Amino acid sequence: MAARDTVIEEYTAQLQARMYQYSRAIYRSIKDLIDPYVAPELHLEYRRAVLEQCELTMERLAKDPLYFAKPDRALFQDIRRYFPITVQAEVAWAVKEGLAAATAFIEEQIEAGALDGGVARCRATTRKGKPCQRTPLPERDYCPSHQHLERSKVAA
Ligand SMILES: [Zn+2]
Repeated sequence: MAARDTVIEEYTAQLQARMYQYSRAIYRSIKDLIDPYVAPELHLEYRRAVLEQCELTMERLAKDPLYFAKPDRALFQDIRRYFPITVQAEVAWAVKEGLAAATAFIEEQIEAGALDGGVARCRATTRKGKPCQRTPLPERDYCPSHQHLERSKVAA
């Protein structure tokens, strides 16, 4: 049990690190477009606000990837006021590209089963022909009831 928790924790940390990179990438691509005609203190505040919104969006996407519809539109709505009208199309495009990359990454993880509640499933098929829903033994592909399958695989 403890071993599995560690695996999940490590996995979550890795995912967060990846999402942080995507968030920084979006921020880097738009930070120079932030309204330059405001007072310096305000400009700094704008930059902080944009960075924070990028991070919040990525956090939400990582936590709730299946139920966060149109994250690019949500982020753009949250930050558009910090940019002059003339560059907003460019900002919208950068946000869309950045979030498309992050979403593709998360979808890959879901397909690989890595985000299945962070819990791996036994690889065996039950007698009824359905995938076994039980949790594998630590560092194994099969649950206790199906562990004989693992042994036969190793022997073969
Ligand atoms: Zn099983």
